Amino acid sequence: MAHIVIMGAGIGGMPAAYELREMLPPEHRITVVNTTDYFQFVPSNPWVAVGWRDREAVTLPIAPYLTRKKIGFIAKAVTVIDADANKLTLVDGETLDYDYLVIATGPKLAFDEVAGAGPVASGGGGMTHSICHIDHAQAFFADYQKFLENPGPLVIGAMPGASCFGPAYEFAFILDTDLRRRKLRHKVPMTFVTSEPYIGHLGLGGVGDSKSMLESELRGRDMKWITNAKTTRVEEGKMFVTQLDDQGNPLKDHEVGFKLSMMLPAFKGVDAVAAVPKLCNPRGMVLIDEFQRSKAYRNIFSAGVCVAIPPVEVTPVATGTPKTGYMIESMMTAICHNLADELVGKSAVAKGTWNAVCLADMGDTGAAFVALPQIPPRNVNWFKKGKWVHLAKIAYEKYFMRKLKKGTSEPIYEKYIMGLLGINRLNK
Ligand SMILES: Cc1cc2nc3c(=O)[nH]c(=O)nc-3n(C[C@H](O)[C@H](O)[C@H](O)COP(=O)(O)OP(=O)(O)OC[C@H]3O[C@@H](n4cnc5c(N)ncnc54)[C@H](O)[C@@H]3O)c2cc1C
Repeated sequence: MAHIVIMGAGIGGMPAAYELREMLPPEHRITVVNTTDYFQFVPSNPWVAVGWRDREAVTLPIAPYLTRKKIGFIAKAVTVIDADANKLTLVDGETLDYDYLVIATGPKLAFDEVAGAGPVASGGGGMTHSICHIDHAQAFFADYQKFLENPGPLVIGAMPGASCFGPAYEFAFILDTDLRRRKLRHKVPMTFVTSEPYIGHLGLGGVGDSKSMLESELRGRDMKWITNAKTTRVEEGKMFVTQLDDQGNPLKDHEVGFKLSMMLPAFKGVDAVAAVPKLCNPRGMVLIDEFQRSKAYRNIFSAGVCVAIPPVEVTPVATGTPKTGYMIESMMTAICHNLADELVGKSAVAKGTWNAVCLADMGDTGAAFVALPQIPPRNVNWFKKGKWVHLAKIAYEKYFMRKLKKGTSEPIYEKYIMGLLGINRLNK
């Protein structure tokens, strides 16, 4: 009998727990350990931040759903991983032994890398907001309600080193839609400040025609932008940005005034993971092989935002490669197959496709992209805009939350439909 511990109950960890339970004989124990006792559907945070969703709609208590599937659950943060002794220490000093560890801890939000940025409660200076966590999205909404009484300039974007650009665009367009509906948009100059070398790069070197489509969208919505933006510090109502040229030399210094701002931070690995000798790269992201297995510890696997992936290309201001939901689920499926094989003495052979399939809401319309594989050159490089994406994104949220409540990872109809589209979780 083996004990498998999954660290992190997010977009990656929860489906992995269900999929492993389906695949493994009942004598193997599975335990999920997570900092909080609830799951949050991170992709809906932009809606929470403008009050289009409330917390209850996009979170769920983890324990009842996992217990029903005979999966153990501990709602405590892991503070130490002793990878040589196969032992975790939890925040209250309790310890937990494992035979196999699946690390799915998502990112540590590196607000400290730009002075003044990010929520105070998450180690930031309090001058800009975030939507990476449901608490951050709710804090934005509280300030947004005051802002609506006395509106002014808005700055939205992504900090140097960021890898997750899609939600920054989404949020800018959602805010634009919300302000237009309130007939207040004319009082709100908006600027999009991004470390990407060009609009629509998305950390992916662009997808299809993303550059011209997103530029056109920003123009059509009267938003200014600054690319190659190295944001150096934020003070109350002022963002200091050095814009670099294509060679990485300073081109222009900007002092961008704002009344309200949301800037996505760069990501690092969470402390407990980053501290394990030889497990991670210098930013604390887990170094894995093609089978999602740690390069240093054979009984540790990892998937999701916490794994190390090199940038698609070198950019004047540092940018990273995004890890999107379907890609994360594909990594997890590979881990489940490899663990099931390992437990019967076979070698790991499953490799996730890492296909990027993403729906970005724009408030009243949306943009979808499919990058197969995520790293160019690609077999499929598709980017399309349409009202159907807005509806599809709503359906995706409802579908994912339902899937977690039912306790399934990839229902047969999902596998069938995605298969028809040529999108599979595992490389054949
Ligand atoms: C605002 C935003 C919107 C996004 N929208 C989309 C989208 O529309 N589509 C898409 O495909 N992708 C989207 N993404 C990208 C990606 O899908 C999400 O970031 C996703 O949540 C990542 O999943 P994960 O499992 O790697 O990490 P997470 O979902 O962040 O889960 C990590 C879990 O680990 C737990 N944890 C952390 N440290 C510890 C510890 N020490 N001990 C125990 N538990 C710990 C956390 O509490 C958390 O529950 C978005 C990202 C952001 C930030």
